[in-house]
Amino acid sequence: MRADLVIRGGRIFTAEPGRLFVDAVAVVGERIVAVGNEANDSVTGAREVIDLKGALATPGFVDAHVHPASSGLDKLRCHFDDARNAASALEAVSAYAAANPELPWIIGAGWPQSWFSNGCPAKEVLDRVVPDRPALLTNTDGHGAWVNSMALQLAGIDVDTADPPDGRIERLADGSPQGTLHEGAIRLVERHAPQDTVDDLTAGLARGQDELLGHGITGWQDAIVDERIHDAYLRLEGQGRLRGSVVGAMWWRRDEGLEQMHELVARRERGGERFRPTAVKLMLDGVVENFTASMLDHYLDERGGTTENRGTDFIDPDELKEIVSILDDHDFQCHFHAIGDRAVRSALDAVETARRRNGPSDNRHHIAHLQVVHPDDLPRFAALDVVANAQPLWANNDEYQAELTKPFLGARRSSWQYPFASLLASGARMGMGSDWGVSTANVMEEIHVAVTRTWDDDEEPFYPWQALTPEQALTAFTAGSAYINHSEDQTGSIAVGMLADLAVLDRDPFREGFRETRVVATVVGGEIVFEAR
Ligand SMILES: [Zn+2]
Repeated sequence: MRADLVIRGGRIFTAEPGRLFVDAVAVVGERIVAVGNEANDSVTGAREVIDLKGALATPGFVDAHVHPASSGLDKLRCHFDDARNAASALEAVSAYAAANPELPWIIGAGWPQSWFSNGCPAKEVLDRVVPDRPALLTNTDGHGAWVNSMALQLAGIDVDTADPPDGRIERLADGSPQGTLHEGAIRLVERHAPQDTVDDLTAGLARGQDELLGHGITGWQDAIVDERIHDAYLRLEGQGRLRGSVVGAMWWRRDEGLEQMHELVARRERGGERFRPTAVKLMLDGVVENFTASMLDHYLDERGGTTENRGTDFIDPDELKEIVSILDDHDFQCHFHAIGDRAVRSALDAVETARRRNGPSDNRHHIAHLQVVHPDDLPRFAALDVVANAQPLWANNDEYQAELTKPFLGARRSSWQYPFASLLASGARMGMGSDWGVSTANVMEEIHVAVTRTWDDDEEPFYPWQALTPEQALTAFTAGSAYINHSEDQTGSIAVGMLADLAVLDRDPFREGFRETRVVATVVGGEIVFEAR
């Protein structure tokens, strides 16, 4: 046997329970043909050898909740990756405008509120670098946007414009618009801007794929696939450029009912080899920080008193039972967004109804985010065969927790957040994802938080009893997410016969920690598709 690729000289994490580590892996064509001693023996005559020099290799990561097309497109437009403050942000806008004189609009995303006083940049500042075209720049979390005077004029926003019901126009003392728009007010400008075309999204997807491959991610579940993103996947695959193995979660339109089933069934038929649109995304609630996460009990006020607000069910729980039963009966996988404990319970109740009506299925419904989970619901994941889809980066004591979350949930409910160790202990299956571009796509940084429950070393750990072992976290981000994508017999672990989807790291994070660890090479089906320079 002549190997095409042998990786050796360090440890290889397999995600195979009986044999978690081996010291070599050999590849012929697109498949793994040997591990351990036998792989080491095949180094003579191998076409290519990667010497780990004491570092770790792992299965290619599978990101179970990510938005590569829109996030990649943001990177192709005006972005702030190299900016550090308001002044350098303005330089970035100025440079982008100068480099793209033909664009009718300057569109971009990714500035943090901390760069500007009150988090609200002024239109005049933007006018200085974009005086002649409308400009619309969304902030990092997408809940606010910075616009210039041209954009405000074009949208007809002036002193007399009322705030929309779901948003707010930041104003000067005289009531005229200041230049920052919040939430639904963004759409007052956005609806005048050119829509993302399939061409735009195909380019964005290619850029997003590069980002993911650069982090060792060889497969993923796209968490919002609308019709244009669907077409972008088909186009990229048709051009032979889709390298990752992808399940698409088609967006459930909440303002429509079951009549969209026909369209979902038809769209499922329009898949490819690598892109399989077999899941449906059901967004059940909002976020805790603005009190739209759906809670079993009331939010508190600043002083710890009770309020009337329990958040918002984006889909009525009884209606959800019908929707999920029918989706399950049509063999769709349900991918739920659930942040609050009532949203999590609604998802579990809906799957329970589906199980009762349809019997067991292999659809592998999964709940993403899982911020607040009522302890009574923990054992239901295993009992109902619902997979926990964790975004571990959020489980640390950041300012969102200190200022916007814990005071309004109270101590008891706060301690129910991101209960990853309890879920595993209850027998639940677990996959992991990044939610890039809301958060970084860097898997090592995500696993760092999963195992330490901190971001900085001097930070108080966030309910540290919910920390995972490195083995548990790596298994979730590989085999666990591959299970969600129905591809665990092909990828997500290292064993003879599996696809050679691999990530090579620059060190052994079991010994040196995950946060600073970098991916230096990514292999898809035996082919090196990313190499760090
Ligand atoms: Zn998301």
